[in-house]
Amino acid sequence: MHFELQKQDSWSSARRGVVHTRRGTIQTPAFMPVGTFGAVRTLDLADLQSLNPDIILGNTYHLMLRPGVEVFNHFGGIHGFIGWEKPVLTDSGGYQIFCLPHHRTITEEGARFRSYHDGRFFMLSPEKSIEVQTAIGSDIMMVLDQCIESTADINATRKAMEITHRWALRSLEARSDATQALFAIVQGGVDEALRYESVDFLTQHPFDGFAIGGLAVGETKREREDFTELVAARLPQNKPRYLMGVGTPIDLLEAVRRGVDMFDCVIPTMYAERGKVFTSQGKKNVLPVANRLSDQPLDPECECSTCRQYSLGYLNHLSKCEEPTGWRLLALHNQHYYQHLMRQIRNAIETDSFESLYRDLTRQWTAPLSPRRADINSSVNYY
Ligand SMILES: [Zn+2]
Repeated sequence: MHFELQKQDSWSSARRGVVHTRRGTIQTPAFMPVGTFGAVRTLDLADLQSLNPDIILGNTYHLMLRPGVEVFNHFGGIHGFIGWEKPVLTDSGGYQIFCLPHHRTITEEGARFRSYHDGRFFMLSPEKSIEVQTAIGSDIMMVLDQCIESTADINATRKAMEITHRWALRSLEARSDATQALFAIVQGGVDEALRYESVDFLTQHPFDGFAIGGLAVGETKREREDFTELVAARLPQNKPRYLMGVGTPIDLLEAVRRGVDMFDCVIPTMYAERGKVFTSQGKKNVLPVANRLSDQPLDPECECSTCRQYSLGYLNHLSKCEEPTGWRLLALHNQHYYQHLMRQIRNAIETDSFESLYRDLTRQWTAPLSPRRADINSSVNYY
């Protein structure tokens, strides 16, 4: 795998690049739809192909418990199992383990935890995580890391960072197929010196890319942006940078501006389940009764199949009834919105217009509602 840096924005740290993997290229900045269990929730393969992301993400922790390594070995990895032919990135399971504070023990060896599925105990070590990701056959693997709350004290943060470094080297050692790329994860909480130390340690080793981990876990938005900027600026120019688990459209735009290339987040599907969508007019709630008789599309400027075929009134009805089709149609729209946003960002960097796109979008997303407009369109919330 290698990263081709095509253009550096002159106004900001935004960059346009291409990640070349064994299953094709990823145009960056890129957003990866999350397929936790080997499916992007509510979408089938044809939906996914129509959205056409260059890469999707799977969760090692969940896929290890179900269906398990044996199934991936039988089907020839996740590509053979789910029918997706383009690149797949798998996370290492570190974040999911972090989310189980009462059901896991972290030692030097790895994380011992009890399965939420059948109560059995599992040991997820760096080597085990690589073994599972090898069976899944992902094109980009992540090292197992110890994620910790941003609000943890300095000693605990240092300890988690140091164990993450040792686990990263063990993961590198455990990789058996060099065509599977391996990304390391920078930790260090919200401490400047620790973040620098983490970058300086990890970048001495032959990882294919670097993720900025341990953010979106309790810090403020300002801290997240500052630490993204600080870490991205110290990472090498010739490797991709991935901000894990982030975020809303504005979060993505802010991180691209600070030099991040890759993102993943469950927000597009999670918001869809709650009747919320991102539109060219801001964030919109489909559920209010004011939408009941609307024969307008969700977003008049959107070209997704949901906006082309269905009225807001119908989507309001389906969402209120908690009809799975409603969830699916909104998820399709939100995923389309994210892919479209990334295309706009890539084009803007290419044509030296990222600054004007940034200003247009932030103005659009933060514009205060005029009383008249608020009255007419009470379901619109701006972020
Ligand atoms: Zn749409």
